[in-house]
Amino acid sequence: MKLHEYQSKQIFAKYGIPIPRGRVAATPEEAKHIAEELGGRVVVKSQVLVGGRGKAGGIRLAKTSKEAEEVAGQILAMEIKGLPVRKVLVDEAAAIDKEIYLGITNDRAAHKPVMMASMAGGVEIEEVARQTPELIIKAHIDPLLGLRDYQSRDIAYKIDLPRDHWRVFGQIARGLWQAYLDCDASLAEINPLVITGENKLVALDGKMVLDDNALFRHTDLAEMRDLDIEAPSEIEARRYGLSFIKLDGSIGCMVNGAGLAMTTMDIIKLFGGEPANFLDIGGGASSEKVAAALRIILSDQNVKAVLFNVFGGITRGDEVARGILAALDEVKPQVPMVIRLVGTNAEEGLRMLANAKMITAETLADAAKKSVAIVKGGAAQ
Ligand code: GDP
Ligand code: MN
Repeated sequence: MKLHEYQSKQIFAKYGIPIPRGRVAATPEEAKHIAEELGGRVVVKSQVLVGGRGKAGGIRLAKTSKEAEEVAGQILAMEIKGLPVRKVLVDEAAAIDKEIYLGITNDRAAHKPVMMASMAGGVEIEEVARQTPELIIKAHIDPLLGLRDYQSRDIAYKIDLPRDHWRVFGQIARGLWQAYLDCDASLAEINPLVITGENKLVALDGKMVLDDNALFRHTDLAEMRDLDIEAPSEIEARRYGLSFIKLDGSIGCMVNGAGLAMTTMDIIKLFGGEPANFLDIGGGASSEKVAAALRIILSDQNVKAVLFNVFGGITRGDEVARGILAALDEVKPQVPMVIRLVGTNAEEGLRMLANAKMITAETLADAAKKSVAIVKGGAAQ
């Protein structure tokens, strides 16, 4: 889950990282109001969950509150990389002397978080990484020891940060690490961290990505999720506790178990088809869950067939069958459905489904072949 700039910066501030004064606005009038409050020059910043807003024209300076209102109106009417701008952050403008990059992410190869810093921060950091990677300094962080003070000093030294900033830089680095750790983030980034005209260090931009699998222990952070930018089907799926990822193929997959769901996708591809989604309905597939899953799968116009692959384990085959029957009754799908049901009480389950107009399959390979045949226009028997 990605956080907006204003959300990330609010978290950073709690960890002692200096940020500009400012607030978020949803209308030009609000933006004007905030600019009046702040007094002086402001920067109006689109809040969309993509990088490169500056280059796209989504970050603009305004000298007066009147100008802030105008600029906010223009930015709020924009779409950046396909995402509509619904909010702007109005911050007091900073005079920039130097733009520094500072970020923490997980280095999977090293099995450790890594802090990265560069004096060549700002909007071109990707270019820097590509063309002059030696300008990016890295320090791995031992998750048990945390970021050590000598490490942030070493980074400050290696990026040639003037010595009078080392103390505050150390405090910012420590704050960023603590925020990363406490929020179960997979990315915490300040780009740019600037040296201002008044020779102060300030985080002008902020970005955090949180680990979805840890959100259960961060209810306050989970509430920050911006539903505007997610596929509606994925939002709906989360509401029912389904693990769902939309894909581009034509065979809908209804499967219990993540491993089985991946196997199902693989075997569909093996027989020349393309899965329309990844879906794990999880254990205890109640009719409510199955119905929700079926609705979600069928809301995709590309879906020409649905493959049910169910292994009756802890959730028995007859329970799943009952769930499917209730779901079919509710959703009334118009596309052919193929089912492979094995495991505990599979026979009972299949008997219950006998009148459900589903195409039954003995094996997973058989089910995949039949599904592929349907979407390719050949009849399945
Ligand atoms: P991004 O393009 O999405 O990464 O958005 P940023 O918040 O990083 O802003 C992009 C660029 O706009 C920064 O690198 C700065 O050069 C510039 N910028 C942002 N805030 C200010 C500000 O307060 N004053 C000035 N002069 N420039 C700013
Ligand atoms: Mn930035």
